[in-house]
Amino acid sequence: MRPGLSMEGTVPDLLVLGGDVVTMDADRAVWRDGGVAIADGAIIAVDKAAALRARWPYAPVLEAGGGLITPGLINAHQHLTGDPLVRSLIPDRQSSDESIFGWAVPIHGAHTADDDELSATLSAVESLKYGTTTLVEAGTVAHPSRVAAGLAGVGIRGAVGCWGWDVDNAPYAAPADEVLARQTAVLDGLPKGGGLVEGWVTLVGHDLASDVLLAGAADLARRRGVGMTMHISPTEADVAAYLRRSGRRPLLHLADLGVLGPHLLLAHAVWLDDAEMDALLASDTAVAYCPWAYLRLAQGVSRAGRHAEMVLRGGRVALGCDAPNAGDLPDIHRAAALAAGLARDMSLDAHRFGADTVFALATVDGARAIGMADRIGSLEVGKRADLVVHDPKAAPFMVAGDPALQLVWGTDGRSVRDVVVDGRVVVREGRCLTVDEDALRLEARASQAALLVRAGLTPRGAWPVR
Ligand SMILES: [Zn+2]
Repeated sequence: MRPGLSMEGTVPDLLVLGGDVVTMDADRAVWRDGGVAIADGAIIAVDKAAALRARWPYAPVLEAGGGLITPGLINAHQHLTGDPLVRSLIPDRQSSDESIFGWAVPIHGAHTADDDELSATLSAVESLKYGTTTLVEAGTVAHPSRVAAGLAGVGIRGAVGCWGWDVDNAPYAAPADEVLARQTAVLDGLPKGGGLVEGWVTLVGHDLASDVLLAGAADLARRRGVGMTMHISPTEADVAAYLRRSGRRPLLHLADLGVLGPHLLLAHAVWLDDAEMDALLASDTAVAYCPWAYLRLAQGVSRAGRHAEMVLRGGRVALGCDAPNAGDLPDIHRAAALAAGLARDMSLDAHRFGADTVFALATVDGARAIGMADRIGSLEVGKRADLVVHDPKAAPFMVAGDPALQLVWGTDGRSVRDVVVDGRVVVREGRCLTVDEDALRLEARASQAALLVRAGLTPRGAWPVR
């Protein structure tokens, strides 16, 4: 059904009216002084505000007040446990290995189930307030059901998984069949279509899985019709490891094993050669691109990254914000601006990769990359009602502009005023309605202090504290 049409006879339970509706539909239509009608969590009409109000004069209205109304944004790679409670504490000037073994391993070891839910809750609240309505979790270590409870409690859409790896001598490693049993349990507990949060097959990836585990995980995802995600090649380290192990570069080895395919969302894929690019695109494998993390961690995206090429060759690419100590702010607006800036600067081509292209990665094309394009990513009749209203009184909107330029170059998540997920208003006037934010802050401070003690970590800041 086309936007502008509606489902006959259905009465909306919410109208979002009076803004410029950036639909991100196939025509990229913008409805000036438009609106969206929502019933039972789904979009039933997109039209001029006056037409919607005349048609349903008694329906409850969320007034956009002239602000931009956009689809909810998609964050395709976000760590929801471990990092959130030690955000901005892992030192800047150290290698990734020092961060993993000095911080991530002891923190995950000391994380309780309550910490997992709290961390996910914090991430979900912050993400919503920056306009993200769907999070794909990068994988938690221990308590995926509590992570899912955190997301569901806040009212954000998401996919969660339980990390697994089966190589020797690594912390938390287990045999492949045990890892696959844990993955299966997540899928059983969080079935696709069973609610806002669904289970995915989630490996840590890199070089931390045997061929048996990699192939078994891909087979499980295909059989169950769910997504699978794992990390690969943010640096050249995975390339070296796969060459040692198989004589093949990572994506070619994954292709040999039958792991690549439309079910798979690879996080990063920064260091790919020509043959790997061809294998990625031929298999319709998706990529979660987290540009801030690569810059922060000095991983070489400005030298090696080929994500713009993936997009321009028809590949499935979504944006991500990675971890709160790598990428840090879960703000997809910032990631979008950086992705566009890198693409343009690296190619010395100002005709390339405009704001319209990159905002699609944050919305409709991101939804395609995570396999949810049938449900989310654009404001069209029949899709779930995930949308964002930017504050027309925010400083970046004091003068009118092209919405694509405004949304990517001109603002960030801080101008988000209201957020609707699945038809439910979850952020209003910048406050998250589903949690007590003051109580959450106090709980986070207390839990952080206890976690650091249990993990035996004493943060040392960059500056002396007197
Ligand atoms: Zn990650």
